[in-house]
Amino acid sequence: QAKYAGRNTIRFFNPDMQAAIDARATLETALRRAMNSDELSLYFQPQVDRDGRVIGAEALLRWLPSDAEPISPTRFIPLAEETGLIIPIGLWVLEQACAQLGAWQADASTRELVLSINVSACQFHQPDFVVQVQETIAEFGIDATHLKLELTESLVLDRIDQVIARMHMLKDLGVSFSLDDFGTGYSSLSYLKRLPIDQVKIDQSFVRDLAHDQNDAAIVRAVLAMSRSLGLNVIAEGVETAEQFDFLLSHGCEQFQGYLFGKPAPIDDFPAKVIGVG
Ligand code: C2E
Ligand code: MG
Ligand code: MG
Ligand code: MG
Repeated sequence: QAKYAGRNTIRFFNPDMQAAIDARATLETALRRAMNSDELSLYFQPQVDRDGRVIGAEALLRWLPSDAEPISPTRFIPLAEETGLIIPIGLWVLEQACAQLGAWQADASTRELVLSINVSACQFHQPDFVVQVQETIAEFGIDATHLKLELTESLVLDRIDQVIARMHMLKDLGVSFSLDDFGTGYSSLSYLKRLPIDQVKIDQSFVRDLAHDQNDAAIVRAVLAMSRSLGLNVIAEGVETAEQFDFLLSHGCEQFQGYLFGKPAPIDDFPAKVIGVG
């Protein structure tokens, strides 16, 4: 045991590591429990066009434990991915999203809204993922052309031929694709051309310092120019200031998402915004 290990002994295991493993196990148990209670919920963040009109939303998962502070998806999504819990969670997100689209499509004032959901790599690669999407679309009777799947660069670059084949099957159902966190990975122009994506989502790390960082500004201009030449729609995420919005507008960006237009919020707070702005 570590306790008896003398100097110069290589320890493969130390109390810090044990503590980390314990914390992870506790979190995993809590996440399993959260799935069976109502601690998980979907929040909706508006996406707007150049006139600031709400045209859709991104669904973002929230874990709000009844007896503790909210736990960030940047913490529990990776854990869910490692443990496989993302499979049932991802299916739940898909169902909730399709239910919401069904509600929107039943009302003339919200019929045109597009809803984006995030899809993890292991979820996308499940053998029955396409069937699940197909069945959920059918179950809720939605027009799937208003359902968008956000895939990350790393997802699409790994096993690219299989990914492209699967994307085509999903596109046949009417679903569209946004390439999330664009710019943080290694996608090249030639890869982008091969992928049946509809939209590129500029990562918020480039948007943040747009007004002060010449390199970020150059990257954003390049992404906008390149996407235009490829006929791809571009959305910028993490837009917080009017200054960032103006820069993006002046360089041709078509869609926007960020605190400037609205934070992720429960669905009850969402329709009011649509009616308010639209
Ligand atoms: P993402 O898909 O890139 O989502 C955008 C993140 O930026 C969200 O963080 C959102 O709340 C945040 N954000 C939006 N506007 C602003 C802004 O103006 N300023 C700043 N500072 N942040 C902004 P969130 O909700 O914490 O989610 C983090 C990540 O967790 C997501 O990044 C996504 O990768 C993952 N995630 C969230 N929900 C799901 C889900 O249902 N399934 C899967 N697989 N992943 C999810
Ligand atoms: Mg996203
Ligand atoms: Mg993103
Ligand atoms: Mg991001």
